[in-house]
Amino acid sequence: MSADPALLDLRAQRDALAAGQLSSVELVQSSLRRIDAASGLGAFVHVAADAALAAARAADAARAAGDARALLGLPLAHKDVFVTRGMPSTAGSKMLAGYMSPFDATIVQRLAAAGAVAVGKTNMDEFAMGSSNENSAFGAVANPWDRAAIPGGSSGGSAAAVAARLVAAATGSDTGGSIRQPAAMCGISGIKPTYGLCSRFGMIAFASSLDQAGVLARSAWDCALLLQHMAGHDAQDSTSVQQAIPRYTDALDALDALPGQRPLAGVRIGLPREWFADGLADEVARAVRGALAQFEALGATLRDITLPRTELAIPAYYIVAPAEASSNLSRYDGVRYGHRAADGAELAEMYSNSRAEGFGPEVKRRILIGTYVLSHGYYDAYYLQAQKIRRLIADDFAAAFAGCDLIAGPVSPTVAWKRGDKADPLANYLADIYTLPGSLAGLPGMSVPAGLGAASGLPVGLQLLAPHFGEQRLLEAAHALQRATDWHRLAPPTL
Ligand code: GLN
Repeated sequence: MSADPALLDLRAQRDALAAGQLSSVELVQSSLRRIDAASGLGAFVHVAADAALAAARAADAARAAGDARALLGLPLAHKDVFVTRGMPSTAGSKMLAGYMSPFDATIVQRLAAAGAVAVGKTNMDEFAMGSSNENSAFGAVANPWDRAAIPGGSSGGSAAAVAARLVAAATGSDTGGSIRQPAAMCGISGIKPTYGLCSRFGMIAFASSLDQAGVLARSAWDCALLLQHMAGHDAQDSTSVQQAIPRYTDALDALDALPGQRPLAGVRIGLPREWFADGLADEVARAVRGALAQFEALGATLRDITLPRTELAIPAYYIVAPAEASSNLSRYDGVRYGHRAADGAELAEMYSNSRAEGFGPEVKRRILIGTYVLSHGYYDAYYLQAQKIRRLIADDFAAAFAGCDLIAGPVSPTVAWKRGDKADPLANYLADIYTLPGSLAGLPGMSVPAGLGAASGLPVGLQLLAPHFGEQRLLEAAHALQRATDWHRLAPPTL
């Protein structure tokens, strides 16, 4: 076994552990060494070295005693939006610096129950608001492909950690693109399931009607493995759905067993006309078209579709999400938990000083916008209007899916930009154009590597969307593509 088993993908790590070629302690040590050596990336906000090694020792002992749980002894990292017992949980905010949760988020608990070893918590934009990871109170994250570039956001720490092979997989959350966009910019795979598939219990809330947990990993198969152990109904989240979770990895293995070279025969892929129009960088368009040609070679048929309300997704999302955030973040008042200002003559002043000190500028901006659009007199003009647009966007998808099985397009209009290049918040918001529509409609989506941009040499992601609960269909298409191509194997030059 190589000296650096953390370089293996999740499936290879699992196989090596099961075959007795590798111990969990060796694997976790390798991961911890790599995390330490790559600390300059800023991908982690907390590393739980001792706890992870103890868990790895326990996993090795359990395996020796016959335990064969699916994720036994595999190191993972959690986005710091998920609360964890025994590790701080901050959501990238000074407001929660040092906060220790008394319980684990449901998905954290489920992955641990399947045997996974949590090595630490990954950096993120404050309260998951952002697309560049420059909004973290604990510093920006660098893109392993170009240290001067952003890794994407808000799950930028998870994406950078996986791309730099510090861990083979990490959890993330996606409210308007936060799994898909950093996965694209770091050249890895990511899945955001249907709204309600994974429990939000213990996921620090941003916009509750949009927030969804998911996975960032090196391949669709690895995403499938983790997702099937995270997903499923949870009585502690009233929006989590009663839905049987397929064994996605079995479906992918069955696809491999099909005879012939056309595993996607009969699959109709819709290409939204509005997503291949002005504003899409040439190098991104070309890489995406290259991936689409591969789908055709695998048997799929491509057809043009229309999502006419695409442009309205930006104003609708940037009203709905801040409105929900302004309500969710009202709990940080310095009283029960979180940062409390030292001074303040009376209670209201203590509240306002605590919030002024604890929140960063983007979070404050969204609380102000959200409070404004929900206020009496503006509610109908903004919030209600945005909700109506949200419905129309969902209707556009329903109409499109009447004629296709999957929708494909770019994840982001450009490859990763340089840190500091989009100082204007609006410029960041506009770059979310292709991920917001699927989020507003609650659809499952994936980002898979589609090669490197011809001009920049940086990763380009292909976005795939499916109808509600179409995760298996998404994973199958992504897996078939990855069986036929090597884009997902590309590694940053300075690994
Ligand atoms: N970039 C979007 C925003 O800033 C989406 C973030 C997310 O999905 N958490 O809100």
